[in-house]
Amino acid sequence: MNLILLFDDDFISDSRVRLAGRRLQHVRDVHRATTGESLVVGVSNGRVGRGTITHLADDAIEMDVVLDRDPPTPLPLTLILALPRPKVLNRVIAGAASLGIKRIVLLNAWRVEKSYWSSPRLAPENLRTQSILGLEQARDTVLPSIELRRLFRPFVEDELPSMARGTRALVAHPPATEECPRNLREPVTLAIGPEGGFIDAEIASLERIGFAPVSIGERILRVETAVPFLAARLY
Ligand code: SAM
Repeated sequence: MNLILLFDDDFISDSRVRLAGRRLQHVRDVHRATTGESLVVGVSNGRVGRGTITHLADDAIEMDVVLDRDPPTPLPLTLILALPRPKVLNRVIAGAASLGIKRIVLLNAWRVEKSYWSSPRLAPENLRTQSILGLEQARDTVLPSIELRRLFRPFVEDELPSMARGTRALVAHPPATEECPRNLREPVTLAIGPEGGFIDAEIASLERIGFAPVSIGERILRVETAVPFLAARLY
């Protein structure tokens, strides 16, 4: 936790917060902070600054907060992600949030196992928790929006064209002959396939609406590795 993310109901006055639970535990056990020390804080979807500890007890910590700067610039990347297996989902969401990705669509695809859609990890509270962990890691405050789309075709045909308008539309696909571009200065909508990859018909549907299949080399990466690799390569 490189930043303590604060929410409206943490504030007991305009500039003072009171925290308990996981954040208190972390300040005590990991930072081993004491009264008078100051830590990096940020307000959810707001500014970043410092919190000076005014009171530290077993059940709560209080801090005086000064917010004096904006959070880091978001990555202009919309991620269309075939729903990964539940075990991987948490890591991918936290990782994407820490990279500064602000819009994620979790999409069905032919090779996504149906059972993944009933995972409790898809619950909004879990997706929010994973996003918060990623933001705290990266000292960001702006939560990503995460949408679920259980039907590939209607999403790709009816929604994705307008979502991708004005962006470079790419689908990461290992057999593609075109290399993934580097160091772009434009927004990108990037589709990433499931563990078994997108099937040909799915790639064809994406190509029909302007997505270019691109490869990042002969090494086939796991989704949780492909996401940061692609984000770093694109920007
Ligand atoms: N056997 C699958 C295939 O050939 O498509 C591998 C799927 S890979 C584990 C999961 C996703 O990560 C892929 O669908 C793709 O979006 C992305 N990916 C992984 N390695 C890649 C590479 N070398 N080039 C392009 N995309 C890659």
